[in-house]
Amino acid sequence: MSGRIAVIGGGHNGLTAAAFLARAGRDVVVVEARPVLGGLAARENFHGEFFVPGLLHHTSGVRRRLIEELDLGRFGLTWCDPPDVWAPAKGGSGLWLRGDCIEGSLAYRDDERFAAYRAFIDRVRRAVDPVMDAPPADPKGRLWPLFTLGLNLRRLGAKDMVELLRIGPMSTFDWMHELFQGERLRAALAASAIEGTFAGPRSPGSAANLLIRECTAGAEVQGGPASLISAVAGAARSHGAEIRTHARVSRITVGSDSAVTGIEIDGGEVIRADIVVASCDPKTVFLDLIGSEYLPARLATDIGRIRTRGTTAKVHLAISGSIESKDGEPVEALRTGESLDDLERAFDAAKYGEISSRPVLDVRVPSLSDPDLCPEGHHVVSILAHFAARDLRGSWNDIQRETLGRVVIETLAEHVPGLSERIVAREILSPIDIESHYGVSGGHIYHGEHAPDQLLFMRPTIQCAKYATPIRGLFLCGSGSHPGGGITCGPGALAAKTILGQ
Ligand SMILES: Cc1cc2nc3c(=O)[nH]c(=O)nc-3n(C[C@H](O)[C@H](O)[C@H](O)COP(=O)(O)OP(=O)(O)OC[C@H]3O[C@@H](n4cnc5c(N)ncnc54)[C@H](O)[C@@H]3O)c2cc1C
Repeated sequence: MSGRIAVIGGGHNGLTAAAFLARAGRDVVVVEARPVLGGLAARENFHGEFFVPGLLHHTSGVRRRLIEELDLGRFGLTWCDPPDVWAPAKGGSGLWLRGDCIEGSLAYRDDERFAAYRAFIDRVRRAVDPVMDAPPADPKGRLWPLFTLGLNLRRLGAKDMVELLRIGPMSTFDWMHELFQGERLRAALAASAIEGTFAGPRSPGSAANLLIRECTAGAEVQGGPASLISAVAGAARSHGAEIRTHARVSRITVGSDSAVTGIEIDGGEVIRADIVVASCDPKTVFLDLIGSEYLPARLATDIGRIRTRGTTAKVHLAISGSIESKDGEPVEALRTGESLDDLERAFDAAKYGEISSRPVLDVRVPSLSDPDLCPEGHHVVSILAHFAARDLRGSWNDIQRETLGRVVIETLAEHVPGLSERIVAREILSPIDIESHYGVSGGHIYHGEHAPDQLLFMRPTIQCAKYATPIRGLFLCGSGSHPGGGITCGPGALAAKTILGQ
């Protein structure tokens, strides 16, 4: 097929797919509903001269090897080290995670154990990287990818391979207890295991999430998500892709032969296309833009079953002055939650349809490295808050939103004295606001939970795991596909390569 390709959504994955396809000489149009490009990674103005560089704030998951071919350096992309992370503690000065090093008051021999943990992650990365940089191996498919997967595992050596297989099904709680003595260190590391999941540290399988997060973390993009979006969009345009904003797709049109014929935009405009590549979440693609009545029954059931229970809220603060650790060091990244029990209790709230009264906060101060985000003498604080149930008992309203904002600020203020008095403005986004502003089902930050049955060849469903779908000419390229959510460019690049037969 060599006709027109319509890409739905100008988030980072849609743009990545468009850049690859246009570079291969295909005729590509990207259609984005919002006025700006970037989706969840778009730079947003939340008050006066205060901006956040995207709803997300980490860019350490970008699959660099996959996007090398796009030569994004030509379009302004540069890499930098991730910031040091402060894990504050009420009774002392807490810990600092500085890449492979750790500082602070540590339990007996936890420094040695941390070094061994980092070394294990570095070794295991060799087996995880090829999995994240290729379409998922399918147990029902060709034998070669399965053989390669097994070979990569075996190449770790018997000891690491067995350890990896042992840890995968474990809970983060049990794994962290095996590894470390200090509770502050256990909690600081475990916090990333629960992002984008419906799990607490005691949930079986949560150790696999932590392992994946650790193994896939690398350099960050200088300037954050907004810089990545500008570079990928620049690459797509330079290769001739047409990019339109303010254009919401209302329907994917499918012919009587079950093949796509194009898309229809709000207002009635029709764009004919032989291939449609959708970066919005799978439920939106199949249930809203096509309609379950037009899908094979099994596919409609499987798509309906995808779990998209949003549990993450976002709070943006405009503050005067900066955030400093107890020792006076400027803080660019901070994680609250002093114990694994703190993390578990925060998750309890989501289970019962509530807002945690003491959420676990993942905080960034992006204006420290990008002063253009706010006026001089001020800073922007970007806070990911876990957990607040999208399906709240009762329902979300302004009172609930205020409660969420209050508990987030109170939790952060435990470590940043005088914070409340320095707040110039704030924006509070509940999961339901994320759902309505950004068009993601359930307000889920990853377009679908990261859980063992929703990863690899089961993401988003077995029929659609390799980007192609049972609807001929329709491909998926968003975070709902392998290698999953987060700012990775992975699904976009792999979907494009699949279409191009590479
Ligand atoms: C609060 C929050 C914090 C996060 N923090 C991090 C983080 O720190 N690090 C990290 O790696 N990940 C984080 N994530 C996850 C990450 O942002 C997403 O997984 C990723 O950005 C999704 O990219 P995408 O291109 O697949 O989809 P999206 O960014 O969702 O892009 C899809 C695009 O499709 C458009 N669209 C939807 N429907 C239509 C339609 N009908 N017509 C036309 N266009 C349409 C949307 O407007 C959007 O632009 C966070 C997410 C959230 C919500």
